Amino acid sequence: MNPHEPTADPLGGVHIKYLRHCPRQLWLYMRGYRPEANSDLVAFGEVVDATTFTRRRHVDLGEARIDWVTAGAVIHETKSSRTPSPAHEAQVRHYCLLLERRGINIRGGILHYPLIRRTTDVPWNDDARTQAEDTETEAHTVIAAPTPPERLTRSKCRGCSYLDYCWGN
Ligand code: SF4
Repeated sequence: MNPHEPTADPLGGVHIKYLRHCPRQLWLYMRGYRPEANSDLVAFGEVVDATTFTRRRHVDLGEARIDWVTAGAVIHETKSSRTPSPAHEAQVRHYCLLLERRGINIRGGILHYPLIRRTTDVPWNDDARTQAEDTETEAHTVIAAPTPPERLTRSKCRGCSYLDYCWGN
């Protein structure tokens, strides 16, 4: 097998986040391009994550690490962003789907934005499950494509850790 071909491993939250940000980013990530490991933005997010809600315990599913789950079951996800985004909600719905597949009766999710002191509820119902399944299918389709998806328009690439790869000489 070509070592650069992605495996059919289950998808985690990062895959869904990248899909929603830019399908090309997901495609590159699955083939081993990981510039985000050196990104200041990622490091900043990790600091916010590590210094907020320090008494909470992560739930490690293997393919995904959920910030924490409270009785109910309600999934919680902390974001260092100041801008709530549909991509964040898609990520939480994906976690709901993963836990439901493990037999857990999910109530919903809550996104926490500590930098703007805001929370956003993410409902879990039939519509949300369909959205999560469609997103998962879309991600698998992108990953399996033989060539990378087109770049976004340059203005939408601002702040992306893959900028040098996509737009460098
Ligand atoms: S630089 Fe632009 S095209 Fe490349 S992965 Fe990032 S958002 Fe997508």
